[in-house]
Amino acid sequence: SVPLAFFSGIGTASRQGILFKDGAAIEALTQIKAAALDKTGTITQGIFAVQEIKAGNNFTEDEILQFCASAENASSHPLAVSIVRQAKEKMLDIKPAADIEEVSGKGVKAYIDNKKIVCGNAAFMQDHNIQIGAAAEKTAVYLAVDNQYAGCIALGDKIKEDAVGAIAKLKQQGISVAMLTGDSAEGAAPAAREAGIDIIHARLLPQEKLDILQKIRSEKGKVLFVGDGINDAPVLANADVGAAMGSGADAAIEAADVVFMTSRVDAIPYALKLAKTTRSIAV
Ligand code: ADP
Ligand code: MG
Repeated sequence: SVPLAFFSGIGTASRQGILFKDGAAIEALTQIKAAALDKTGTITQGIFAVQEIKAGNNFTEDEILQFCASAENASSHPLAVSIVRQAKEKMLDIKPAADIEEVSGKGVKAYIDNKKIVCGNAAFMQDHNIQIGAAAEKTAVYLAVDNQYAGCIALGDKIKEDAVGAIAKLKQQGISVAMLTGDSAEGAAPAAREAGIDIIHARLLPQEKLDILQKIRSEKGKVLFVGDGINDAPVLANADVGAAMGSGADAAIEAADVVFMTSRVDAIPYALKLAKTTRSIAV
């Protein structure tokens, strides 16, 4: 049976936009020792501004943005959404793309104007034997056209306004905080530093996020994972407590024990505190 106090905790939480799947989720939250947080959309706003377009090999900046936006148009990844928005703002036509294939944690492939388009991170270029020269120092999306490097879009995202305070609160609660991200170390370090997170695991494929989770668990104890759910469903399902941030992808909500509907970072320390209060009333 569910102790009555859990209903009160669930009610208080839902008024703050925090949905617990069940009483067991509250119980599990009271035992959390470490928090593993996804970067994009969890710590940061998930809205990228294009900072620079580097054109190489006979392509213009607009052509690079147009090819990338056309290939990314069907993707819901925050980088894809931001690139498409930027192309539309510049009044560039989104071209039809055929045989679109999105590779989780890497990027997208498609045919546009009968040309083979590969658009994604440095690892994705390497997978296709495409030489990109020196990797960018920021979050970057690289483009290859017919197996030739064509250029690169550097993008920047800002941390959420409540991130610094929320991370400080987590640390005060004795929680060890780490950032887990598929982004490059160069792309991730500024956001982690600004938010006050000292432990960064970057360049992780979705499966590798699971390995890191196990490692944190063996070192610190029970782990809470928080992510926006894009490519995160396996980690959400395997964490001691998995929390989906924002309205999120359906797969994420399905896999999560907790949903933070407001997208606020400080929902995390709030939920941990509320779980402990609820538990102490329940026993
Ligand atoms: P994270 O949420 O930590 O960034 P993801 O697994 O969603 O992790 O993505 C990891 C990396 O894979 C991204 O930082 C980006 O470099 C690349 N990536 C994933 N999807 C796309 C996409 N649609 N277009 C371009 N790059 C992508
Ligand atoms: Mg993600």
